[in-house]
Amino acid sequence: MLDPLKIRRDFPILERQVYGRPLVYFDNAATTQKPRQVIEAISDYYQTYNSNIHRGVHYLSQQATQAHENARARIRKFLNARESHEIIFTRGTTEAINLIAASFGKAFIRPGDVIMVSELEHHSNIVPWQLLCEDRGAELRVIPIDDQGEILMDVYRELLDERVKLVAVTHVSNALGTVVPVEEIIRLAHLNGSPVLVDGAQAVAHFPVDVQAMDADFYCFSGHKIFGPMGIGVLYGKTDWLEKMPPYQGGGEMISEVSFERTTYNELPFKFEAGTPSVSDTIGLDAALAYLEQTGLEEVRAYEHQLLMHLLMRLSEISFIRILGHPRRQSGVVSFLPGDIHPYDMGTILDKLGFALRTGNHCAQPLMNHFGIQGTIRASLAFYNTVEEIDRLAEAIRRTEIMFR
Ligand code: PMP
Repeated sequence: MLDPLKIRRDFPILERQVYGRPLVYFDNAATTQKPRQVIEAISDYYQTYNSNIHRGVHYLSQQATQAHENARARIRKFLNARESHEIIFTRGTTEAINLIAASFGKAFIRPGDVIMVSELEHHSNIVPWQLLCEDRGAELRVIPIDDQGEILMDVYRELLDERVKLVAVTHVSNALGTVVPVEEIIRLAHLNGSPVLVDGAQAVAHFPVDVQAMDADFYCFSGHKIFGPMGIGVLYGKTDWLEKMPPYQGGGEMISEVSFERTTYNELPFKFEAGTPSVSDTIGLDAALAYLEQTGLEEVRAYEHQLLMHLLMRLSEISFIRILGHPRRQSGVVSFLPGDIHPYDMGTILDKLGFALRTGNHCAQPLMNHFGIQGTIRASLAFYNTVEEIDRLAEAIRRTEIMFR
């Protein structure tokens, strides 16, 4: 069984205080904290082998290249991709989605085609498709959800037709915690001949992901939401698709031969990796995944499920709290509304009591529109959170409400 107190000792920031109170960090869906192992891996890189990669014959360059490519190999294993060249480094989930929109869009999207997203999506899995649709004269089609926060699968089935050239859905909703049945979504899309991109930003830190088992065509996530550094992300793509797609950006690294008449492109994955990558961050991400592997994602899932059940129970005991959505499968994200108190006002008071929560629309305005609200308070969990922290939050919410009265 996972020991959160042992894990907490690896996360220096969790020891700090804010406003003279112990920090309770419940904003893990926005970004996660970093263990010492990640911070030290980055520091070690800059202190002992900082160098540009793939280009030099010298010792440091080879060492840095090795570490960078080791990270790619670990990510392949982590996602159970078939090949390391199916792992492309990006700046984050947002850039990974924009890469697909630009490159896949250029190769495969024509006027009248349809891109399908769900009502649950983060803005970064909506706006790149809107830009693409505008550019190509294509259409954005939306799979609706119910008030539990579940995708309406029957409607999805009906919306799939021969015009649908790509389905882009989140694996886990960052606002409601819904775990989307991506396997079934992909199966149905494939029967229709449509590839699927899965936004894994809120999934990978919380349970094991197997891109081959789910048969995703594209899968992406951000390093900073999985205990790794900011500025690094991953796009997984099936070789067949990546081979057929044009480069995303031009520059060094992505080329094979350059002349003013004609340039040929490098092989995968480098075709999609123009310029110097953020080597320190791939190394930091490698350390983060090593840390998770050691902890065990099944253990993480089981422990976070206990935390989630406890959080839902504590919140449901407070009469004026309304929890948004009740998905069948939920990851450790809960959105709630505090009666007639404005979420921002309650968030501000809770902040002064040491609680880091998120208030607002969570970059999911269409989802907020579905519920006819402006925003919520969101608590999002990670494996270093504890039952005691949840009890303290519940107590603080009660106290805050009394203050407002
Ligand atoms: N998708 C989802 C579901 C997210 O939660 C987020 C971040 N909140 C993103 C995409 C965007 O990730 P990033 O800002 O790291 O690119």
